Amino acid sequence: MNKIAVVLALTLASLVTVSAQCPRIINRAGWGARAANSAVLPNRPAPWVVIHHTAGAHCTTDAACAQQMRNMQNLHMNTNGWSDIGYNWCIGENGAAYEGRGWGRQGAHAPGYNDRSVGMCVIGTYTNGIPNAAARNAAQSLISCGVSLGHISNSYWLIGHRQASATACPGNAFFNEIRSWPRFNPNV
Ligand SMILES: [Zn+2]
Repeated sequence: MNKIAVVLALTLASLVTVSAQCPRIINRAGWGARAANSAVLPNRPAPWVVIHHTAGAHCTTDAACAQQMRNMQNLHMNTNGWSDIGYNWCIGENGAAYEGRGWGRQGAHAPGYNDRSVGMCVIGTYTNGIPNAAARNAAQSLISCGVSLGHISNSYWLIGHRQASATACPGNAFFNEIRSWPRFNPNV
């Protein structure tokens, strides 16, 4: 590449990085995921984002969050009999976003919404307290990232899992928190 091409490439790369607003992402290989048994293509860009908690232990280190991801995948595949971990993405209180089924494969997290949503969990139990700032920021930037990359509709609606199914998920405290997030839809 000549000098102008290099400058142009660097400029474009920085524009892409800025516009995508993505959090630190740990892909499947990064957390030691098993291969999925099958995959279904969902409707994209997704018109819905569904927020969950895992109702389990919190994690604040990369090692602990990766372990939680592997535990969840084993539970979802071995006990629930699903083809893979149920969520599209999970967020840790270490501030990282973990690729579950990812953007391009249909999740198993909220019946009625799975084919048209991105299901995002925050690892932990948020009945009485909300996720820490690192996790809240990562969750919101993952949504912005998904919109920028065209996986989530720019006119998406955000809901908590309890609006789709009879469940306490994502916990009372966290549900109250997401009511103030952009694009929250109270009419579901
Ligand atoms: Zn849920």
